Amino acid sequence: MSVKIIFFDLGDTLGQAVLSPPPVHLLEFDVFPFIGDLLTRLRSRGLRLGIISNTGDDSGAHVDSILARGGILDHFDPALRIYSQDIGLKKDSPQIFLAAAARAGEEHDPASCLFVGEDVAERAHAAAAGLRICPHPLLIESIIEAVIADEARPPDQPRRADIVLRYVRISSDAVALPWSSLAGVRTGFVPLQVMGRRRNVLYAIVAEDVLSRLASANLRVDFLGAAGLPLTTDLFIQRDASSLMAAPQRDLVVGTAPEGLVIALPANRSLAEIHVETMQHGHTLKLVPDPLLVGIPSGFPLSFTALADEDALTDDVVSALQAINSEAIQHRVDRYAGAANLSDGMPVLSRHLAHPDNRRAVDAMATELAALGQGRIIVRMHRFSHRGRELFNVEGEITGQSPELVLVTAHLDSTAANSQPYDETADKAPGADDDASGIAAVLTVAEVIAGLTGSTPPRRTIRFVLFNAEEEGLVGSRAYARLQRARQASLAGVFQMDMVGFNREEPRSWELHVGCRTAPDVEAASLPLAHALGRLTAQVSPDLAAPQIHRSGPGIDDPADGRSDHSSFHAFGYPALCASEDFFAGPDSDSPAPEANPHYHQRDDNFIDPTYAADIARAIGAAVWQLAGAAVMPQSAPAFMFSRESSMPASREYDSRKSAAATERRARTSTAVAPTRTNPITGTPFAEATARTGQQSLVAKALAFVQSRTFAAADGGTQYVPDPNVQRTSSGAA
Ligand SMILES: [Zn+2]
Repeated sequence: MSVKIIFFDLGDTLGQAVLSPPPVHLLEFDVFPFIGDLLTRLRSRGLRLGIISNTGDDSGAHVDSILARGGILDHFDPALRIYSQDIGLKKDSPQIFLAAAARAGEEHDPASCLFVGEDVAERAHAAAAGLRICPHPLLIESIIEAVIADEARPPDQPRRADIVLRYVRISSDAVALPWSSLAGVRTGFVPLQVMGRRRNVLYAIVAEDVLSRLASANLRVDFLGAAGLPLTTDLFIQRDASSLMAAPQRDLVVGTAPEGLVIALPANRSLAEIHVETMQHGHTLKLVPDPLLVGIPSGFPLSFTALADEDALTDDVVSALQAINSEAIQHRVDRYAGAANLSDGMPVLSRHLAHPDNRRAVDAMATELAALGQGRIIVRMHRFSHRGRELFNVEGEITGQSPELVLVTAHLDSTAANSQPYDETADKAPGADDDASGIAAVLTVAEVIAGLTGSTPPRRTIRFVLFNAEEEGLVGSRAYARLQRARQASLAGVFQMDMVGFNREEPRSWELHVGCRTAPDVEAASLPLAHALGRLTAQVSPDLAAPQIHRSGPGIDDPADGRSDHSSFHAFGYPALCASEDFFAGPDSDSPAPEANPHYHQRDDNFIDPTYAADIARAIGAAVWQLAGAAVMPQSAPAFMFSRESSMPASREYDSRKSAAATERRARTSTAVAPTRTNPITGTPFAEATARTGQQSLVAKALAFVQSRTFAAADGGTQYVPDPNVQRTSSGAA
């Protein structure tokens, strides 16, 4: 009756798999920091430990050799390491779990085996085979204790082991929850997500015995759904869903909160059932069990070194960046959005994670990244599981002199959930704007930066990463960010591009999002990335309006806070921003009206303006190059150094409206001789620049700013012509 054997899933449960580009082989297995102690504790209780893993084309011997390097192989009984390649079964049915129980000599009592895995679909198959199940390693001991308690209980009473785990929402009236005391709870408590305007809300899985400790800490604890639900479901938050749900889906809702609808989804149900047309981008967040989420000190060593103004790009670099152009972008959007064929002669119909072309697109991106890198980009695949599927993020690295990372990212999956009825396994979901525009931008930036790198490595290490499963709750980027956090990687900045292609009308406005309400210090550390981009835009993409910088302010939230892959990095304390087309209103009351893509999440998301997308990608490329090669080497900077930035009012960002200026600039550049020499700071043609910019005093800049604002007010806010220099007032120059 009692638990004798524990079988573990590998990827996402004990650590994370890093793989080669296709044909895929395991290169490294990064063990989570809390696993070593746990395995030792379990063995000291006399438990036998095993593995049940889908290993793709890798043999068990190969996987064993990688686990040995990770220092955990010896914890596992050689007879109980069950690998799909060796046994000819995968975790897509109860069969492999039955075989595992038999291997352990427990075919007549499979309930003496406990399967621990983060994938709800795998757990469902294990349960169907009669094994006990557990969603996270740090909950094993709670389940074992409950099983022991059950042995002493009359058989007609409910089994405690089935109901010992609960989803909870913990909140506090305090400014922030007393994380340090919670982090001291070693087992029976697994954080899922920190939320709340004051970082005062925590979603978690807790065992019964931990509940009393939480209550004594004077916290409010709300139960979400029935006891035992964490065994058989994944938890999601739907931000934009109304609480008035259609009856067929109501059984999935386990709570309503200011954060949104809380959904517990069993293996056989789909989030698509809850898709509502009014949902905005990034409406879904999957809450992934992760003990690394708490215990992030507010002064997590953010080592971003603000870029000095005088770090202007050289003319050589500016001219090399011109290769980030509309042809390169459109060509790649066509490849990944199905307007052109892949090299196998077939188009990509959909990149939805449930569609077979998701994997074809992933392989093509990995192959293309390796080819365009001219030998300078090391390509790896990062595997994670979601809804019972093995999914891949694609990573390309240009190794720098320092291991500190600069990331250029986009999401590779797509959806057409707004075109109902929608069969996600078969229907078209081209996602040209969302987010093939970002994929094309990342690949094109990678190609140009690999060329620029030449034989001299950049100071920092640059990674180009394409995330899977963004549309189902930022799942791929969350897995990737947690790996960086587990490795204690130092990350100078993340530049995410999500929907950078849609623009039909003037102005050619765009957005940068750095808002992170739950962690003001992280937002403050992210803001210099946006300011650097603002400065560089005028230099390398003069036809583009200055970016609208969205951030948290008094009574205002960044509308993209938590809504794209950049926020997976915010959650672990890393500076990150998201660039997008002018999707959201604001940030100022007089900002131009947003231009929402009418094909958003529909099967006809086929259009992008490649020139506009190239302009955004080029600005990102310039910022990445500058941050990766910044003359000032990284230093560990306490977060409070950025507090000055965060105290600036949100309304002070520069914004060059739809204006005569943009039209005039375009006319000027199109009639000028092609490679116009421009002032490296303002992006204006050289002859004129001396008159306009020169070495203006701070007072003159401030005056120009005041004058431009006055003009804006007098003219309805659409026609003023700001001085590009003024933009730098928001980075603290004036
Ligand atoms: Zn997107």
